[in-house]
Amino acid sequence: MSDRTDTNGARPRVLVLGGGFAGIGAAHQLKKSDVDVLLVDKNDYHTFQPLLYQVATGLLEQSAVGHPVRDLFHEQDNVRLHVDRVTGIDLEARQVQFAELQPMAYDYLVLGLGAEVNYFGVDGAAEHAFPLYTLADAVRLKNQVLRLWEDADKHPDLIEDGALNIVVVGGGPTGVETAGALAELYNGVFRKDYPDVAEGASNIVLVEASPEIFSMFKPELRTYTVEALTKRGVEVQTGELVESVSPARVKLKSGKELKAHTLVWGAGLQGNALVQSLGLELERGNRIAVDGNLRIPSHQEVFAVGDIAAITDAKTEQVLPQLGSVALQSGEHVGETIAQLVQGKEPKPFKYRDKGTMATIGRGSAVVQMLGGKTMKGKKAQLAWGTVHLALLPTNEDRAKAVVDWAGAGFTHQRSARISVET
Ligand SMILES: Cc1cc2nc3c(=O)[nH]c(=O)nc-3n(C[C@H](O)[C@H](O)[C@H](O)COP(=O)(O)OP(=O)(O)OC[C@H]3O[C@@H](n4cnc5c(N)ncnc54)[C@H](O)[C@@H]3O)c2cc1C
Repeated sequence: MSDRTDTNGARPRVLVLGGGFAGIGAAHQLKKSDVDVLLVDKNDYHTFQPLLYQVATGLLEQSAVGHPVRDLFHEQDNVRLHVDRVTGIDLEARQVQFAELQPMAYDYLVLGLGAEVNYFGVDGAAEHAFPLYTLADAVRLKNQVLRLWEDADKHPDLIEDGALNIVVVGGGPTGVETAGALAELYNGVFRKDYPDVAEGASNIVLVEASPEIFSMFKPELRTYTVEALTKRGVEVQTGELVESVSPARVKLKSGKELKAHTLVWGAGLQGNALVQSLGLELERGNRIAVDGNLRIPSHQEVFAVGDIAAITDAKTEQVLPQLGSVALQSGEHVGETIAQLVQGKEPKPFKYRDKGTMATIGRGSAVVQMLGGKTMKGKKAQLAWGTVHLALLPTNEDRAKAVVDWAGAGFTHQRSARISVET
């Protein structure tokens, strides 16, 4: 391959696209393999998405959720990193194009480019909604909320227009966690921060299209969640579809109009837009179908992992959800697979180790459902959530930082990251 510029070309090149859980997992598993690994991400940091809502609500600092990617490979000398945007992938020519780098050939390609927000064509959503998928999204939402409270404190007439109200769309984990955390920020912190803003001047509404929130959980956990949200002051509206969004109003299909200057979109994801140019038949949600070894059937040197892939669980025969543990395990599996292939060995098929489905609602309140159907709720569930998610954080330093921040917030109810820094 003539266009190898940064490696000597003597060993197979593994090109890993995306430095999320999946891409990092794949690259790490190739540590001892006789290959050159090149990992490219558009950001110089790895994002820990499960805690984005904690950045958005001032509980965690940005650096607890975004970790420098280069840091993660100090001990791995067969990896090189580039910060660049992937602009095209030619599976036939086995070549990837970038915004700045020269086109690059590969022997093995790992697609770990994740997913992106799907607004399902809702009028005004792309322009006015606040998604929560990237670190920039989380900081943008935090700044919006802080700014609106400062503005309303100075100009109380804004309150009447719904400036402090928030509509959160989507009754899945992202919507529920965000609504719960915003309610705690409002009632636990802003109530004291802004003594002149009257109680009842703000409300948080969670809107879900289906008849119930948390459809992936058992009915008892759904009921518990609605009660926990209601106790925190979140109004849950189910069976309601958002029709359009404007800067200060949210219109529902039922005809209702909600006054709110902030709409958080936690309602849908689709595979990274680049998948549409691959010439492949895509699964639901624009995800790439893979075989039992996580390869693209028509291109056996190409693997898809994490949120971008539709991975069928060998045990349940269901497509696995877009979760951190699926992304990490599938990425690691592909790293091991490539290491086996390079040695001329037969790789083993992917088997997912289910750690349970879980979500937090607020302090001391969470739900967990294990594969066998066992459930947990309350403080015990929150501890389980914390344990599973701390294990997903990339370094011990990040884990320590998160524990200190969580413990601090738990004791003091303060959110020390609720400052807005203009650049
Ligand atoms: C708000 C939120 C809460 C969540 N909560 C949980 C939870 O509690 N538990 C759980 O298990 N999972 C949770 N998830 C899901 C979990 O975070 C994802 O499943 C996981 O991050 C997917 O990993 P990935 O590596 O496939 O993709 P990502 O983590 O999205 O990584 C993709 C990478 O590709 C890069 N990239 C994208 N496009 C390009 C391009 N064109 N060029 C170069 N680089 C590019 C991105 O910068 C990114 O670093 C949550 C997700 C969100 C959004």
